[in-house]
Amino acid sequence: MRIIHELEEMTKVARGLLVGGPVGFVPTMGNIHEGHLALIRAAHEECEMSVVSIFVNSLQFPSLEAAQQYPRNIQRDLQLLRTTDIDIVFLPSQSAVYPPPFSTYVTPTGRLAERIESERGKNFVRGLATGITKFLQIVRPDVAYFGQKDVQQVAIVRQLVRDLSIDVTLRILPIIREHDGLAISSVNMRLSSEQRAIAPTLYKALLIGKTLIEQGERQAEVIKQAMQATLTTQPQIVPEYISLCHPDMLLEMEEVTPGTLLRISSLIGDVRLADNILWTTNRQWRV
Ligand code: AMP
Repeated sequence: MRIIHELEEMTKVARGLLVGGPVGFVPTMGNIHEGHLALIRAAHEECEMSVVSIFVNSLQFPSLEAAQQYPRNIQRDLQLLRTTDIDIVFLPSQSAVYPPPFSTYVTPTGRLAERIESERGKNFVRGLATGITKFLQIVRPDVAYFGQKDVQQVAIVRQLVRDLSIDVTLRILPIIREHDGLAISSVNMRLSSEQRAIAPTLYKALLIGKTLIEQGERQAEVIKQAMQATLTTQPQIVPEYISLCHPDMLLEMEEVTPGTLLRISSLIGDVRLADNILWTTNRQWRV
């Protein structure tokens, strides 16, 4: 496992790799967990070389303070990564990625961007798009791996890669869950034990939606109300949104059809949890 800090070194290595087989890339913000490890395993199995990056992308947070509060544990991450077959860990500094006076941004516009901005705040879309573009430029992967967990990220990256003709294949892998259904996430560690006990309610609410659809219900409003009712059985859960939408554009649906994404975001205390399940166009469930 080679650790690279410098951008030039990463790009030089990436260029050298061009002659060989495919390079797989897993961008992360660290706090490596089973969800990340699933992406890393896939990259290793499917590609000649695998690269994971650990970088808290300050641009996509509402403020610098918020970015600084994001949990970091590099030594533990490296220990965990050494147990995998990852070839390269890319660990650049903030000032290397965004050298002052950094002033060139990738700014998605249109309905998808507006929709996600309304859910995540103004900086998120531009910060994410700029950060991902930059990393794809530096690492030059053939395949980039993302989790279905972050559907907003997936939607933005799909659009970005298409619009800017970036030569990369995207692989989107299913959500890895705890035994009780809670989607694994770096923020779960911030939940108290009481909050952790009720956190799987988000997944339960999604499964209520799934059951209704399986029973033939098609009216989005009816399904959302049932999901909302499940969430509100726990007064500590403050729903932010319940959405039944198209998986690429995240446009709300009135009538559910195969190819519908069911999404929930809620606050428990000050921890924001998001989860989703997908009813695919061929009527399979990605839960
Ligand atoms: P993050 O470090 O939170 O930015 O996540 C890095 C990548 O891991 C993103 O593509 C996430 O969607 C993915 N990821 C995070 N949690 C999970 C999970 N529970 N299952 C699958 N992928 C995940």
